[in-house]
Amino acid sequence: MNKFGKKPGARILLLAAMVVLAGWWSLRADTSLKWKLSKDSEALVADAKLRDEIFDALDAAEKAGTDPRITHFNVRVATAFEKDGKERVVVGGNVEYEVPEGIHGETSVLNHVTALYGADTTRKQVRFLAFFAQQCGGGASCGDCRDYQMATTDYEHLLVACGQASDRTVKVTRFADQIVCERNFPEVDSAKIPLPAEELRRLVQSAEEARRGGVTLFTKERHTGAAALSFAGKTYRAAGADDAAFHYRYPIGGLLQQAMTERDYFLRAIVISGENGEWPVVNYRDRQYGYEASSFNQAAGKPPIVLILSNGRGQFRMTTFESALPSAFSTADFMPEALKTFLATHTTDK
Ligand SMILES: [Zn+2]
Repeated sequence: MNKFGKKPGARILLLAAMVVLAGWWSLRADTSLKWKLSKDSEALVADAKLRDEIFDALDAAEKAGTDPRITHFNVRVATAFEKDGKERVVVGGNVEYEVPEGIHGETSVLNHVTALYGADTTRKQVRFLAFFAQQCGGGASCGDCRDYQMATTDYEHLLVACGQASDRTVKVTRFADQIVCERNFPEVDSAKIPLPAEELRRLVQSAEEARRGGVTLFTKERHTGAAALSFAGKTYRAAGADDAAFHYRYPIGGLLQQAMTERDYFLRAIVISGENGEWPVVNYRDRQYGYEASSFNQAAGKPPIVLILSNGRGQFRMTTFESALPSAFSTADFMPEALKTFLATHTTDK
């Protein structure tokens, strides 16, 4: 007989209380642990195995380690797939370090898969990346992570899942929705480009001249030059430059840095020139730089930067960074007031 067994009445009461408590705990565990797909996500996750893998990945992502010491914004991500008859779950997390630099969740998890199982597994077995978030917004990967996912996965079929901590709903989208191929930038007659003809001619010539420079010791085929016109009427240009550490310097990023160095923060148009007769490739990382700069325009009530592709034969494609990098984010989203104050106190274009 145990210490609670002296009076039968008390024993029954205690047992009843234990049963109620146990039931409450299991109910609580059920509601807090079960993921469920949002209605509009069900069509994208056709088979039950894939759905279970997404849920298993979200459970693992919830516990993934991160070190976002600057923003304190955690990106916890994981994927799951079958390998040698077993389910494998691989996690990734973001890390930030000064100046501000970062290893992002997407590159972290995919590199982790490659380190454990090889590049072929990353390309053929990874069907989704699952993010664990307090709140799932419409945000997508940064430009650099888009480049990395395109380079390492079967990105045309890759899914992106976001599991929301508060109600355990899981929203699934296609990674392909984050991609806009240069072929899909609308081709336009030069008369439709909102620049005086002479200005456009000068920018094209300047971008072509820039392309003759830069550094191309490792770059194959993709070398480009870029030239920009600011609202203050100044032009800037830059070419891509590679290096032994593979820290590529991008042409749009390069000319933006020059303009910003001169406190000329608002650009009107950027022209990119590729190999003669070829449409230039605009990497997503470079689109991210352009998108950030275009959000400066928006913060100051100016139109977005016009992005113009030239194939060197008088033909043009025209778009904006907002269209070329769907669902992007910039400082304007995170700290709009700080950005406005910064621009007001730094710009020379009053
Ligand atoms: Zn990223």
